[in-house]
Amino acid sequence: MKSSDMFEDAKTLMPGGVSSPVRAIRPFPFYTQSARGSRITTIDGPTLIDCCMAYGPLILGHAHPEVMEAILSRVRDGWLYGTPIPLEPQYARLLIDDHPGMEMLRFVSSGSEATMAAIRVARGFTGRPDIVKVEGGFHGAHDGVLVQAGSGATTLGIPDSAGVLADVVSHTRQVPYNDLEALEGLLAGNKTIGAFILEPVLGNIGPVLPDRDYLAGVREITRAHDVLLIFDEVITGYRLGIGGAQNLYGVKPDLTTLGKIIGGGLPIGAFGGRREIMELIAPAGPVYQAGTFSGNPLSLSAGMAAITWLHDHPEIYQRLEDSTRSIGEGTSRKAGSFVRIGSMFKFFFREAPPRNYREAKECDTGRFTSFWSAMLKSGIFLPPSQFETNFISAAHDEQDIATIRSAYQACL
Ligand SMILES: *Cc1c(COP(=O)(O)O)cnc(C)c1O
Repeated sequence: MKSSDMFEDAKTLMPGGVSSPVRAIRPFPFYTQSARGSRITTIDGPTLIDCCMAYGPLILGHAHPEVMEAILSRVRDGWLYGTPIPLEPQYARLLIDDHPGMEMLRFVSSGSEATMAAIRVARGFTGRPDIVKVEGGFHGAHDGVLVQAGSGATTLGIPDSAGVLADVVSHTRQVPYNDLEALEGLLAGNKTIGAFILEPVLGNIGPVLPDRDYLAGVREITRAHDVLLIFDEVITGYRLGIGGAQNLYGVKPDLTTLGKIIGGGLPIGAFGGRREIMELIAPAGPVYQAGTFSGNPLSLSAGMAAITWLHDHPEIYQRLEDSTRSIGEGTSRKAGSFVRIGSMFKFFFREAPPRNYREAKECDTGRFTSFWSAMLKSGIFLPPSQFETNFISAAHDEQDIATIRSAYQACL
């Protein structure tokens, strides 16, 4: 069966034919047979250079041998016990030691779960009901963060999904990214706000990069108003380097959420932070949080192998940096703007790089779609949206980068 037929069938069985909306590429997505290194092979035949990399987790590339070995050797001993395993505190220590903002953590099974629990414990700690997020910032698919962009700081949040209660999102305020004045104005006027959650680098409409003093300013303002600062590093954790954005920018949040890369390609999430906050989590404290698959042995084993590999090969981050810079050199400034940081990059069909959600929305998505199709025909799989970040991995070699670069040049 071909991908087109398979999708027709899938649409009768699953909403939109998919298990997560971004995969529903029109007219049909390709179905994957296998993947290795930088390459993904479709059931229709072609092998493509992958710049989607499962939307972020695979910084070592597909089917990395050391991660594979870790998974296989764990599997032989069984893969779920409902008890702690020795690897749990070992891996927790590694992650905590890497992140200045983490003194304790808890493992969960997805990034969404991590942000949901981080917000809950922030409310438990501060006793304040409201939170602030950044417009266009993405923190997963739970109710409290599904707020329509555009419902700004002065109005109460409006649900961004049917089925989400207006009552729930009325506790979620929003500010534009890179706007310290808006944040200060909001926090100064509201004693009901307990936490500010943000992606330090916007990864779900971008990358959209922070202005030079933005994150330091955010830290200063939140501290001055006794508001907890939550860095959602589900993408940036181990993507921008060991220790993520908090290490790169030298800003210490009160709480941190991780996911994606720390599972080595298997489902995972984690949230952590200051000890006095984390000790409120059950059973140590009154904030309830639990999960059957939390800290599951396979995800921990794969994650530990991946993060250990990164520790053993710190030079990889410079190579990834050089690679995306090289891809950017193949893009025309006339067509739009190329933005990159570490192994994240994107070409925006907008004259200047966007600084926030409103500016990102000005991109010409029609032109993006034509460009995306042309890239696919050239054998390169990009995430199918102007607003999803492209990723490369340690498995992309010089030849891959040269191919991506010349495809950009030609397709733009
Ligand atoms: C992917 C992502 C999430 C959600 O993680 P899931 O594992 O998909 O639930 C949360 N925050 C950010 C910044 C993300 O990129």
